[in-house]
Formats: sequence, C-alpha cells, structure tokens
Amino acid sequence: MPRPVRSLFKASLQLAFLCLVGMALYSCTTRPVERGQATLPGLQGPPVVRVALGRFFPAPANSAPLSIDGEYRVTSTSTGAILHHGASLGDAAVAVGTKGSLMVGRQAFSERDVRILPAFDGTLKVGDRFYRGTLRALLNDDGKLLLVNEVPMESYLAGVLGAEMPLDYPRAALEAQAVAARTYALFEIRQAEIDGRANLFHVFDDTRSQVYAGTLRETDKARAVVGATRGVALLSGGRLFCAYFHSTCGGHTEPGHLFFDVPQMAPLSGRPCEYCQGGKWRRWETTIAKADICQKLGVKDVSKLKVAEKAPGIHALRIEAGGRSWNGMEFRLAVGPDRLPSTAFEVEDRGTSYVFRGTGYGHGVGLCQVGCKGMAELGYEATEVLKFYYPGAEVLRVY
Ligand SMILES: [Zn+2]
Repeated sequence: MPRPVRSLFKASLQLAFLCLVGMALYSCTTRPVERGQATLPGLQGPPVVRVALGRFFPAPANSAPLSIDGEYRVTSTSTGAILHHGASLGDAAVAVGTKGSLMVGRQAFSERDVRILPAFDGTLKVGDRFYRGTLRALLNDDGKLLLVNEVPMESYLAGVLGAEMPLDYPRAALEAQAVAARTYALFEIRQAEIDGRANLFHVFDDTRSQVYAGTLRETDKARAVVGATRGVALLSGGRLFCAYFHSTCGGHTEPGHLFFDVPQMAPLSGRPCEYCQGGKWRRWETTIAKADICQKLGVKDVSKLKVAEKAPGIHALRIEAGGRSWNGMEFRLAVGPDRLPSTAFEVEDRGTSYVFRGTGYGHGVGLCQVGCKGMAELGYEATEVLKFYYPGAEVLRVY
C-alpha cells in the first residue's frame, strides 16, 4: 500500500504549506498598528470630543436649522436635569428666543446652556449635516448662539478620516491618517484643558483644527480603519504632540516650530520625502493680479514681491513686498490657500500680475498625505509610514 501512504504524506505536506500561507496572510492582515501600550494621565477610554460647529459658532443669524428623526431629550448642562422630552423635530430650529431665552423647536428654555440628546445615535441634523453624539446649545456673554457637537472620539474620527483623506487611498495610508488625526485631537483636548476652554470646546470642525462634517464622509471603510487603530496614538518622550499633517510637501517636510507655536522636537523636525513625487501638486503654476494681492493683504503696494527667507523644505518663512514683510503662512492664508497651494514657490513679475511657480500643497509640517499614499503603495505599513513622517515618535495604544 505504498501509494496511499505517499499520497497521504504529500497531502499533509500540502496542508501544512497551505496552513503556513494562511497564517502568513492572516498575520499580514491583522498585524496591529501599534507596538505597545502606554498610560496617559486622565485617559481611561475614548474621550468625548467637543467640536465647535464653525458655521454656528456663533450662529450668524442667531438660529440654526435643526431636526431630529426620533425621540430626544433636552437637559440642563449645569445640573443634568431633564427639561423636556420630545417625540421628534422636523424642519425646526435651535435659536435665540425673546428676552434671551433659548428655543429648541417651539419650546423655550430659560436656561442659557442646554444639551439636546437624541434617543438614536446619528439622528441629529444641524443645517444639512447629520451628527452622532449630542448637541450642546448655549448663549455666550453677548447673547449669541453657540453650537457644539459632543461626540465620542472614535465616532468623531470616523467622520474626520474621509474629510481629510480620500477613502480610496490604500489601507496603510488611511490607518496612518487615523492615528495622526487621533493624536492631533487628543493633543488639542489636552491643550484646551490647559487653555481653560475645555468646558466649552476642544476643536473646530474646519481647517482651524481638522475637518469634520458629522457623518457626511463616514463610510463602512472609514469606520473599519478607525476601528482597526482604536486607541492608537503617537507619543514623543511619553507625551502627546501636535501631529500636524498636510496634503503634499513637495520633497521635504518642514520643522514645525518655524511655522507653529510648538516646541522644537524630533517628530516635527522635518525630513526629505521622496514619496509624493507622483502627486498632482508636484508642480503647479498660478497667476494672481497685483491688485488682488493688494486687496487681500489690505495694502496699496506689493511691488518687488520676493521670498526673503526660506525654511529647509523651501517653504517661505518671510515674504517681502512694497517695503513690508509677511510671515509666509500668513501671506498664503490672506491671499487664499485655494489660490496659492503652498509657499514653496518662485515668483515672476509680469507687470500687473505675479506668476507663482511652486511645489506641494499645504503648510508642509508633519505627515505628507500624498507621500503617505506613495509609501503605502510600495507596501509600507502604517507604523512605518508614521515613523517616517514623525521621526522618533512611538506608536502606542493609549486606551
Ligand atoms: Zn511629501
């Protein structure tokens, strides 16, 4: 009976081989992003993020469209007492009422600070967007309406991810972005506590912090990526840091302390990046009328415009024109970040206008998103991408 024995032997070899391949694949797909755990003071689990809704902070017309698809409660923020039970709210508003009261739908509240808690997560709609968590509505000292979405960190990140990075980017790039966004938010919460504004809000929902549009950009994939990196953050010397990121560095990221109010540190020291070369912002050219620049900067003369000082990644630190001087980042924000993709440019005078020829998109500090995509396409894992763009940082689970 040699033949069956041989077949059996061969079959078991094949089975063992398949098992090995399976295990290798399994470990590839489930390899954790983090390499260890850390304990941060005051952080046991995912914190609630207080997100100031920029369009309603303060609300321009002292009222904002509000609807809730299902039951809800209104509570006092100071005491937690239930002030009202509602069945649902359709095409209603949260608004400043007469004599400085606060209106939620047709109900008036004498309290100046309330929480609106829907019974079902994600049924709260403010303006044209749905939100998870609760909505805090309050009147400031000037009697202006402020709206803050209070949302658990992981739900918040599922909304941030797709707003900050295209969700068709490779998995490792998305995971790296999720970890950077979580680190940024955790750092901002800590910062808000130090600044004494934490009771009101931690972050804005726009580019002043990181972009968050409620559940507008939240998908199954976004939730899965955030879930796979749950609790993972970047630390430097055991502490959180402001994990900046931007679209395209153009070849070299910048030292953070030259552009932002942050200390000099290894993870934000800037480094060469060869991975964003294929991106659409590798080279750009834009022409802007001098009159336009004058108007945006609020000056009469922008003659002899030049980059007077550059950072190591060639982004402008100081720009001079008409005998005056601007910080490069302020100059770009004033002229319009959509018109001037970055400050890594050369200028040509064309009489009534300037031609800017540059590279990259964004401020150039921290993680380069297009480079992150490039690294992921070459097979690098999220941890490797993060350690590349934040040199010396540790990737650890903090809850
Ligand atoms: Zn880059």
